[in-house]
Amino acid sequence: MANDPDCIFCKIAAGIAPSFKIYEDAEALAFMDINPFNEGHTLAIPRAHFANLHEVDEAAMTATLRAAKRAAKAIEAVLKPDGINLIQANGPGAAQSVMHFHIHVFPRKFGDEASLNWGLKPGDRKAIGALAERLKAAIG
Ligand code: 5GP
Ligand code: ZN
Repeated sequence: MANDPDCIFCKIAAGIAPSFKIYEDAEALAFMDINPFNEGHTLAIPRAHFANLHEVDEAAMTATLRAAKRAAKAIEAVLKPDGINLIQANGPGAAQSVMHFHIHVFPRKFGDEASLNWGLKPGDRKAIGALAERLKAAIG
């Protein structure tokens, strides 16, 4: 599927928009969420543009899940969170805000009281970038 010139995640995949990437291969990549709910909140996406779970093809979905698993392994090793959720939103009722299929790798802390629609609070970009370097180095 072609890329969408107006899509921020297509731009990140193409390297046109900045991001803190921790993993990339021919089909998928993983980069830090810029509004992290908890430290280490990361997104895995296919390079190709698919709006959501209903549109993504199986090869792109598999590649995205593989990138999410690699990112989760690095997060586990570097941050030792109390747990990790994989979260994937489709449609306005699920609070999908970027219409390019993505999987949240969502580190959890006891008592963090994450609710599924957790809202967006800008993170400290310097800290996010520094953590991205540590996670990139830990990608197995
Ligand atoms: P959704 O709400 O669609 O499930 O998740 C979209 C996620 O993309 C949000 O957590 C939001 O913080 C993140 N996001 C939106 N724009 C950007 C961006 O330009 N860069 C990065 N790294 N993350 C973004
Ligand atoms: Zn896109």
